[in-house]
Amino acid sequence: MSKSLQAIRGMNDILPEQTPLWRYFESTVARLLDNYGYKQIRMPIVEFTELFKRSIGEVTDIVEKEMYTFEDRNGDSLTLRPEGTAACVRAVLEHGITGGGQTQKLWYIGPMFRHERPQKGRYRQFHQIGCEVFNLDGPDIDAELIVLTWRLWGQLGIRDAVKLELNSLGTSESRGRYRVALVEYLSAHLDKLDEDSQRRLKTNPLRVLDTKNADTQAVLAGAPKMADYLDDESRMHFEGLKARLDAAGIPYVVNPKLVRGLDYYSKTVFEWITDKLGAQGTVCAGGRYDGLVEQMGGKPTTGVGFAMGIERLILMLETLEQIPDEISRQVDVYLCAFGEAAELAALALSEKVRDQLPNLRLQVNAGAGSFKSQFKKADKSGALYALILGDDELAQQVIGFKPLRGQGEQQNIAFDALAAHLATCVVQG
Ligand code: ATP
Ligand code: MG
Repeated sequence: MSKSLQAIRGMNDILPEQTPLWRYFESTVARLLDNYGYKQIRMPIVEFTELFKRSIGEVTDIVEKEMYTFEDRNGDSLTLRPEGTAACVRAVLEHGITGGGQTQKLWYIGPMFRHERPQKGRYRQFHQIGCEVFNLDGPDIDAELIVLTWRLWGQLGIRDAVKLELNSLGTSESRGRYRVALVEYLSAHLDKLDEDSQRRLKTNPLRVLDTKNADTQAVLAGAPKMADYLDDESRMHFEGLKARLDAAGIPYVVNPKLVRGLDYYSKTVFEWITDKLGAQGTVCAGGRYDGLVEQMGGKPTTGVGFAMGIERLILMLETLEQIPDEISRQVDVYLCAFGEAAELAALALSEKVRDQLPNLRLQVNAGAGSFKSQFKKADKSGALYALILGDDELAQQVIGFKPLRGQGEQQNIAFDALAAHLATCVVQG
């Protein structure tokens, strides 16, 4: 017996009933980013494995255990991208578009791949929209990225359900000094740390800060504070960011333990968090990565960005019932035709109407069918109006026009007058 074919666990189909919400979400974000002057970039989904090892860091969760890595037919090691920043940096370097200090404000959208344990809000193929800004080093641009996401939450109707957490990781020098102090402190309490943290102490000590283990958290309460190790430059940068968020009226909390999972961050890090999704509460996360471009072989080029998880935001829209009415209806008018002659006339007429009303969502019945069955389909389509064309109407060169939702009588409209009539009753997007 052949095994039935199934999608890979954690990799989801987005079915036709879900795509309208996805498209609404994506077009809302795209319009917003256009309006703030960000330009879209599209990178490949597969890159050399080395790219992610070098940028994300060898001892991060992603590189250690979450990447989909394989050898291609040439023997090259390739990886399905687990995130977008690395490929974006690779692309701007390869094409020289940040050369000579050129500013770039970029965004991307697409699937990412991580071999994680699938659960609500956590998948193996998931989708992100991300922004990356190059060659702007002041806190004004960090603030802009946060301000525009805040506006997005407002447009989506989920502003009350997210909160902003901020931290500054300092420059790599100040972080280096802090790391030494933290390791010294934690090493003195080694026996009280959970196993994972003991391991991280050796490989990536800052990650101990975001442990979920209560005993380790208790030890951390007495640990040196990152804020005390910030150099003046980072401190001023962070103050500048907070002043701008205050000026824009955006609430935030400083979370000194926010460190982020990737190695490349410096100075600003932030997360937008919700309590509406259970354990998978971070819907958007980002920060500054001033050293990354150089680390990847480019000239010193500052960078700052974020990525939001589309699945989690879609789940929020559903949970908070912030689904706009207009996206549930995808058909304005449904045309029913009865008999061969009427079908031919209907095709010619509908194309003429489309010429005149290019945005009209007109669905022409396909597959013939009785009056009853076509009418059922018209109703089910969600259309506001049905058009009815049979032999009698054809003989008079008119078409029946029937409102399907709410008031209004059925009437006959002359072929020639149909487009003009529809234009008056269907609001066109
Ligand atoms: P988490 O702590 O939830 O694992 P992360 O720090 O690994 O998140 P990032 O790499 O910062 O996540 O990715 C940015 C955003 O992408 C996250 O805030 C989240 O909304 C989304 N995201 C990350 N991993 C997944 C996943 N496996 N499934 C769905 N969404 C994800
Ligand atoms: Mg993760």
